[in-house]
Amino acid sequence: MTSKPAAPSVSHPPATPRQQQEPALILQSISKTFAVKKGVLANQGLLRAVSDASLTLYKGETLGLVGESGSGKSTLGRIAAGLLEPDSGEVLLRDKRIVRPGEQPVQMIFQDSSSALNPRHSIGWSVREPLDIAESNLPLSIRKKKVEHILRLVGLMPDQAARFPHEFSGGQRQRVVVARALICNPEIVVCDEPVSSLDASVQAQVLNLLLDLKEQFALSYLFISHDLGVVGHMSDRIAVMYLGRIVELSDTEELFAQPAHPYTQALLASQPGLPADGQAGTIKRAELLGDPPSPLNLPAGCALHPRCPFVMPICREKVPELKPVAGTTAHLAACHLCG
Ligand code: SF4
Repeated sequence: MTSKPAAPSVSHPPATPRQQQEPALILQSISKTFAVKKGVLANQGLLRAVSDASLTLYKGETLGLVGESGSGKSTLGRIAAGLLEPDSGEVLLRDKRIVRPGEQPVQMIFQDSSSALNPRHSIGWSVREPLDIAESNLPLSIRKKKVEHILRLVGLMPDQAARFPHEFSGGQRQRVVVARALICNPEIVVCDEPVSSLDASVQAQVLNLLLDLKEQFALSYLFISHDLGVVGHMSDRIAVMYLGRIVELSDTEELFAQPAHPYTQALLASQPGLPADGQAGTIKRAELLGDPPSPLNLPAGCALHPRCPFVMPICREKVPELKPVAGTTAHLAACHLCG
């Protein structure tokens, strides 16, 4: 597990009690595999990217999705945004409609602004493009006014619309990507590693912008990152993924104070921004053995069992269900030790 920079300092809005919230997006039993070439003989292998993942994003909340590279979090994010079809399972909006590609209520912000923006077009054109597709009946002058308005909201000047992506810094380009995602008034935004390509000082500015816009437009965020520090600053709740499965789901504060799953404990242990003995001084910190197995050849039972210091015979045979941790209702973990 690589060490990560300390999380940038950002302001955090007060969380709304869950019982007052309604679902914005429901992911039901999502599974996704990819066929990949395997070895010199080029045999086809099946990469199990996401296995039976269920999550509910509530209206107005930020739900963090954290895990290492290859955990399936970006695949799950693209499925949530309607950009990828799951093999099985459904993504439902709050009115129970199934999310289809290009659905306006769900938009996505990608990590890499240079590939999200067409270098041959002005940033005004890139921001306006989703509107040109979705609301082509609107007069061009009104669409241009909307672009000017959204550019101001993300901290850019309307007269910068005629410039090209290479004329902007990385942080400014990411603001353009945010403007493009918001131009059609989405209800839900999937943010996939939105600041991981930026310097720490710029990260904080973009994260604060995302928090401001969330409040202003009553957005709901599915916020994906490999960095538990950043996810912790942004999210009301956090789901932890390991090799395609959600292994823990909890309110942010509880996850940091009382991580239940050995994988989450190990993620926290590798976070240099946290106090050595954990926030409350009682945090459990598991140390995992070895490296993650190939996603082309996942172990039977709990996928963490070859690395887990608490492994038991049942762990090698039975996949643990995601269920409430003993003594809680909203803190879930997929581990035979917790229940
Ligand atoms: Fe470790 Fe077993 Fe829990 Fe998996 S189910 S995390 S192997 S104790």
